[in-house]
Amino acid sequence: METVNKANIRGGHFITKEITSQDIFAPEEFNEEQNMIAEMAKDFVEKEVIPHLDRIDKLEEGLMPSLLNKAGELGLLSVSLPEQYGGFGKDFNTTLKVTEEIGGAHSFAVALSAHTGIGTLPILYFGTDEQKQKYLPKLGSGEMKASYCLTEPGSGSDALAAKTKAVLTADGNHFVLNGQKMWITNAGFADLFIVFAQASGDGLPEGKSGFTGFIVEKGTAGLSLGNEEHKMGIKGSSTRQVFFQDVKIPKENVLGDIGKGHLIAFNILNIGRIKLGAAALGAAKRVAKQAVKYANERIQFKVPISSFGAIQYKLAEQAIRIYAVEAAMYRAGHDIHNSEQLLLEKGKTYNESVLGAAEEFAVECAILKVAGSEMLDYVADEGVQILGGYGFSADYPMDRAYRDSRINRIFEGTNEINRMLIIDMLIKRAMKGKIDLMGPAMAVQKELLAMPEMESGEVTIFSEEHKAIKNFKKAVLMSAGFAAQKFGEKLGQEQEILMNLADMIIDTYMAESALLRTEKMVSIKGETASEAQIAIVKTLIFDTVDKISIAGKNAINSMTEGDEQKMLHMGLKRFAKYININTKETRRKIASQLVAANDFVF
Ligand SMILES: Cc1cc2nc3c(=O)[nH]c(=O)nc-3n(C[C@H](O)[C@H](O)[C@H](O)COP(=O)(O)OP(=O)(O)OC[C@H]3O[C@@H](n4cnc5c(N)ncnc54)[C@H](O)[C@@H]3O)c2cc1C
Repeated sequence: METVNKANIRGGHFITKEITSQDIFAPEEFNEEQNMIAEMAKDFVEKEVIPHLDRIDKLEEGLMPSLLNKAGELGLLSVSLPEQYGGFGKDFNTTLKVTEEIGGAHSFAVALSAHTGIGTLPILYFGTDEQKQKYLPKLGSGEMKASYCLTEPGSGSDALAAKTKAVLTADGNHFVLNGQKMWITNAGFADLFIVFAQASGDGLPEGKSGFTGFIVEKGTAGLSLGNEEHKMGIKGSSTRQVFFQDVKIPKENVLGDIGKGHLIAFNILNIGRIKLGAAALGAAKRVAKQAVKYANERIQFKVPISSFGAIQYKLAEQAIRIYAVEAAMYRAGHDIHNSEQLLLEKGKTYNESVLGAAEEFAVECAILKVAGSEMLDYVADEGVQILGGYGFSADYPMDRAYRDSRINRIFEGTNEINRMLIIDMLIKRAMKGKIDLMGPAMAVQKELLAMPEMESGEVTIFSEEHKAIKNFKKAVLMSAGFAAQKFGEKLGQEQEILMNLADMIIDTYMAESALLRTEKMVSIKGETASEAQIAIVKTLIFDTVDKISIAGKNAINSMTEGDEQKMLHMGLKRFAKYININTKETRRKIASQLVAANDFVF
């Protein structure tokens, strides 16, 4: 497998190339300034948000907007906004880090993310100069709050099937909007609504109609709101329907090109997805911290429950999954940043560079959405279990964490849609010649027919782990390559196989990211100081073997029979393997550091 260096890493390369630890960014490498900004965000959450969670969840009138105002005053709404609009113009990983720190703030995190992400970014990336001048400084300061209206009662995942209409008036100066939007975050207090509707009208040029973005201001006649939805979680996040009855807006409020609203919706979602993963990471760290503190305090059978192996298993497993998502998060974030810089150097505009970079790594963004949200669900679920009956009590923090976690698998594209997108986008990238999938897939098929080679190479601290990851990639290439050959354009109809393949890809990315992060850490801090992190990687890779194996078996059995099936199973056995390790001991090692520190320390 060919090695690729930092400057040449492209989206999806992690499947077809070898990447070394020198070529990734590890969270341990954040600089003083980045850590300072993150610390400020953390401080804000602890002092201004956490004490008021009950009031927030009761949707106390004016509370959420006032908290967003305070966040705006501190600059937390404009971290990534360019300086010309009053922002700080910080790099992508700094934005992700701030998103992580705010991620533990429950409904407030959702409100802030919707405002700074899907609410603000469409104007930043697709707005005209006038629209940017008019709205961005106010959005960055918090003077205006934004919402994003894509979903309708009849169209969720199938967003482009939206029925809301925008008809150009006879004089060609206005659009008149009619329709209904559903599940709109921040709707209750938003000053600005980014609305997607089907544009039509006699005055539109030939071929210029259909799905289009619009900016609608609060107070426009005909715009009204439904009641607050009663939700399972994120109860403090305002979620309402938005109705448009003959809402007349000037044509200057068209966002981007008429008929090209899908470009806004999808491009913004790439960024939204990785940021959702970052918020989930922050929420998970908060839960893990509360879990270990409780486990140390709670005495049963005359000892703290943190001394029980069953509880240590849970604490360790929470840490392993958080650690892997964190490794993958900032690795992908930095890849996006590098790609952005590269595009800028090539003379692309700021917008083209940011959007181009996020599109380049759209597969990784979708991976982090799925991995982050599912990791958080696991961590929150075990958080409840560690607290026992108190975990089930609404007077203890796990109740809120558990309920608030669940939405993340649904919005910003459900996890099913994101899993399908991972495969779809990879295949499209291959078809456009952006990555070579077929070459490496054919090489793996050839390898299958040959005798296994004697293993050689230098034995290092991570040689077994590198071997395992290299083989996981081969398992992915073998299964995905076979599926692509067998079904061709009809692969999209084989959703069960797509889910299996996506799982294999996600698990491979997580395991590789955790390994590269730890290898880098060992090179900086040494082996002894990284003992628990080494245990994390080994345990993760050990478990990933079985996950890849079961997903691979399901995929293979779904598409083959007879000798072909036997050959692929043999291949899978060859590629989904790792050394045997004592996972009781590795997990105890990980848990012991958490228990001793009485904190989440990874
Ligand atoms: C609290 C909350 C806040 C939200 N905030 C916003 C917001 O601010 N702005 C906004 O525009 N939207 C928002 N949404 C909407 C959200 O993005 C949608 O709920 C989501 O995209 C799923 O759409 P749906 O609910 O219609 O489910 P559906 O699309 O009906 O999906 C139902 C199930 O079918 C599956 N499914 C659908 N299509 C396929 C397919 N092709 N193949 C396989 N499985 C499929 C889904 O994965 C899911 O499991 C919010 C939703 C909630 C609950």
